[in-house]
Amino acid sequence: MKIEKRVLLTTMPMPDEGYWDNFRRDTQRRVFTYSFPRINSFGLRFLKYNIPKIGILEYPTHDEYVQALEKGYDIVGYSFYVNEIDEIIGMIKTAKRARRDVEIWGGNYGALTPGIEEHFDELMIGYGEERIAAKLGLKIDRIRHPPLIWYVQTSFGLKINPVGILFTTRGCPLRCDFCQTPSFCSKPQKITLESIKEVIEIYRERGIREVIIYDENFSLFPKHTRKVIELLAQSGIHWFCMTTVDHLSRNWREWYEMNMLGAFIGIESFSQDTLASMNKITMDASDTVDFVKEVHEFIYLLGFFIIGYEGDTGRSVTDDVNTLRGLKLDHTQIRILTPLPRTPLWDDIEDSYGIFERDWSRYDTMHLVWNHPHFEPDELRKLLIRSLLKCHPRTYLVRSQLKFARRFTSERGFFRAGLYLLKNMWRANTLDYTSR
Ligand code: SF4
Repeated sequence: MKIEKRVLLTTMPMPDEGYWDNFRRDTQRRVFTYSFPRINSFGLRFLKYNIPKIGILEYPTHDEYVQALEKGYDIVGYSFYVNEIDEIIGMIKTAKRARRDVEIWGGNYGALTPGIEEHFDELMIGYGEERIAAKLGLKIDRIRHPPLIWYVQTSFGLKINPVGILFTTRGCPLRCDFCQTPSFCSKPQKITLESIKEVIEIYRERGIREVIIYDENFSLFPKHTRKVIELLAQSGIHWFCMTTVDHLSRNWREWYEMNMLGAFIGIESFSQDTLASMNKITMDASDTVDFVKEVHEFIYLLGFFIIGYEGDTGRSVTDDVNTLRGLKLDHTQIRILTPLPRTPLWDDIEDSYGIFERDWSRYDTMHLVWNHPHFEPDELRKLLIRSLLKCHPRTYLVRSQLKFARRFTSERGFFRAGLYLLKNMWRANTLDYTSR
């Protein structure tokens, strides 16, 4: 007789502040900032939705985790990133104390970390639904997209807007030097239109009117992209996407007409040589600056930027950050160049300069972990914090809100736009975000 194995999958624990929030980290402010809390785990939600018999825990407290372990799961799996590995190892020890023969799995980008194999019975690289289902003797006909609902809130806790998260593809075939995605999943897979339709319908039923398309690189499959945005436009849903500057510049007018509100784009550097050396498929740096200036009054723009390239000095970073600030992006995510495991950058930096940091928690892109020719770690970190503050003046919230207000007013008139924003706020504060 086949014995059914019971599986629990979990993320790392809840942080002391009660939630993870990249927005606060980006702005370095506790007030005069939005917050966009990470309230559920995309990966675990996909797994649970497609394999309902597994148990999941998302950012549990220590007590919740210990109580779950008391149920005596046969397998405990951890979804984590490289900088979370120490906490995960602590959690594994707790699981083994609760049950000595528990089987340990690991997944997500953290599974790419070298030297962690001894802690796990199985490490899974890539999206794991089919692999886990097969291990449990199940078969998945098509990947179904779970509802993933987050919210944007003010620093005083008032929620402004509920947001649905949407994946139209997962994975990326490009080879940007610094990025782990091609090692994690180099063959992007489409989420079927059928699954996308289902989740959009759920969002509509729950009153969600805005979604963020969280594909690593939206618009990889032009026909699929086109069908998805037609669906969103027909459903009356506005949307944001994460895409390359190049894709955005070619498509933004059409996308704008089809309800796009904004985009998250990788600017990464203003040096053409640096962009070329990291294999980033993008536009000429000066064209990017011109393009951003052209579109920023129409759409919300979040830009990703990296400092601490090998040629960077205090002067060059200050100049770049001044240029970046001049772009008046709605949000600017600046990070320190970090060689991550299984990226070409890792090998290049190790060979040319050496990677000194052995504490994985510092691989959070907020710390210098390698022997930079011009910076000490503390010096670059201070420069990073100053740069983030500089790019997020206290007025930045008002600027973005006015942009949304203008857009909705142009679409529906002043009073209906106001009503729409109020309704969104009401929904944001009354939705049940825990429901799956
Ligand atoms: S396009 Fe984006 S996801 Fe793809 S390799 Fe480059 S940085 Fe990574």
